[in-house]
Amino acid sequence: MTTLVWYRNDLRVQDHQALSAALASGEPVRALYLLCPAQWDAHDVAPLRRWYVLASLRELGSSLGRLGIPLDILDCGDFAAVPRTLADYCGRHAVRTLFSTREYPLNERRRDHAVVDALRPLGVDLKGFDDAVLVPPRSLRTGQGTPYTVFTPYRRRWDALLAEQPPTLPLTPGPTRSTRAVSFESRVLDKALTTLSLPASMTQGWQAGEKAALAQLKAFVDGPLPHYKRDRDMPALPGTSLLSTALSAGTLSVARCFIEADARRSAGREGVATWISELAWRDFYRQIMANFPHLARGEPFRPETGFVQWSGNDEHFQAWCEGRTGYPLVDAAMRQLNSTGWMHNRLRMVSAMFLTKNLFIDWRLGERYFMQTLIDGDLAANNGGWQWSASTGTDAAPYFRVFSPVRQSERFDPEGHFIRSQIPELAHLDGKSIHQPWRSPMLAPDYPTPVVALDGVRERVTAAFQAARDIYDNTHDTDHHRKGETR
Ligand SMILES: Cc1cc2nc3c(=O)[nH]c(=O)nc-3n(C[C@H](O)[C@H](O)[C@H](O)COP(=O)(O)OP(=O)(O)OC[C@H]3O[C@@H](n4cnc5c(N)ncnc54)[C@H](O)[C@@H]3O)c2cc1C
Repeated sequence: MTTLVWYRNDLRVQDHQALSAALASGEPVRALYLLCPAQWDAHDVAPLRRWYVLASLRELGSSLGRLGIPLDILDCGDFAAVPRTLADYCGRHAVRTLFSTREYPLNERRRDHAVVDALRPLGVDLKGFDDAVLVPPRSLRTGQGTPYTVFTPYRRRWDALLAEQPPTLPLTPGPTRSTRAVSFESRVLDKALTTLSLPASMTQGWQAGEKAALAQLKAFVDGPLPHYKRDRDMPALPGTSLLSTALSAGTLSVARCFIEADARRSAGREGVATWISELAWRDFYRQIMANFPHLARGEPFRPETGFVQWSGNDEHFQAWCEGRTGYPLVDAAMRQLNSTGWMHNRLRMVSAMFLTKNLFIDWRLGERYFMQTLIDGDLAANNGGWQWSASTGTDAAPYFRVFSPVRQSERFDPEGHFIRSQIPELAHLDGKSIHQPWRSPMLAPDYPTPVVALDGVRERVTAAFQAARDIYDNTHDTDHHRKGETR
């Protein structure tokens, strides 16, 4: 009999509850990863993120091999083929128990339900672990027994729960005397890596795998962490952890992040608390995605905002994607995304707000473009961030919240260092004129003039959201009315 660890977005050996539990079973352990390229296509997974996952799998295969655990990688196509492929595999290897880390988005849950149905007749026991979050999505409820939809009260309960039950890490598995290392090679993996068409310049700045993720965590907690609160909004500074890619692919455990940060409170209480708050945001959006599965179908969290008539045009969308809107901070942000596959959090907010409020383009187009480009693309965090920026989401803030791209630029890149690093056409401008180069067009002839003016945005957005609310209320009233008529 064999025990199987089914790897998904948890590509590590250390701090891995499912793997530790599998090893504790005392039976021979195998590991499996099912590659689903068609599902990646359907989910708009960026080529750079695919590279990160595939390259991390190579390291994982070698690390597991040293523990005597063979990692098989099978090409499955899409999620629909997963139950049958798993059932065949379990039959072939006499698998008695399957261990995995739980995933919460709709398609993943449907896949996993189908897997339960396929494996039950074979007598395979399935064990899931909430190892991708600090607090499992259904464990915190409001006084009314409903999921939290506002961050601050959620965060309070989240903090209290973790103070009562701090996260723990399973023992790091190591080879024993009787371990016979197995070598790792995978044609499926080699083929998938060679079919990725990515310029080398895109992968150059990134290191895949668990080892690099652990080193990055150590560098962050021993480096910028105490000053995180002060520096995290300044894109020109190396003030944030850059761990989102590792956390979303699971090359690093979020429990390890929490524990390492928590242990350094004496070095900088505010920095640590603020960073841990970001881990709470991560859990918050994951529980939102788990508890409100319609979000995975592209629907807004606030139903009335589904009636907003987004009136932006293709030309503006293209200019936004390519970093040619004429607003330096927005363009610098988009050029950072396009050239590195990553964007600073402040800039994600600025560029998303600009697309949805200034260009008045449907947030779903921006959400999709981010997923197609980001190395850390994560359905829950990306959807949460986009809906927050578009004012269609969980956040209780009023819909007229609009960022001025100029003001944001002056506040968060006051000297223009970040803009200069991304936009060579503006590199010669001083720290004052770089935020509004159109005021002196002779100074930057190669840089576009603004695609839209800044005035009147708040009024236009407010009117459009009010119109949507009216349509929604009328439809709602009509529905009540109709229900009344049929009674
Ligand atoms: C429009 C928009 C889209 C976004 N898309 C994604 C995405 O696809 N994937 C993604 O991981 N994050 C996304 N975020 C959240 C955030 O921007 C990134 O997690 C962060 O910039 C990553 O950098 P870091 O690792 O240095 O973060 P740090 O500042 O060091 O934060 C530590 C970790 O906390 C988590 N985190 C931080 N901020 C948030 C947040 N607002 N929501 C959820 N988790 C958070 C991340 O896992 C991050 O690695 C998005 C935010 C916005 C506004």
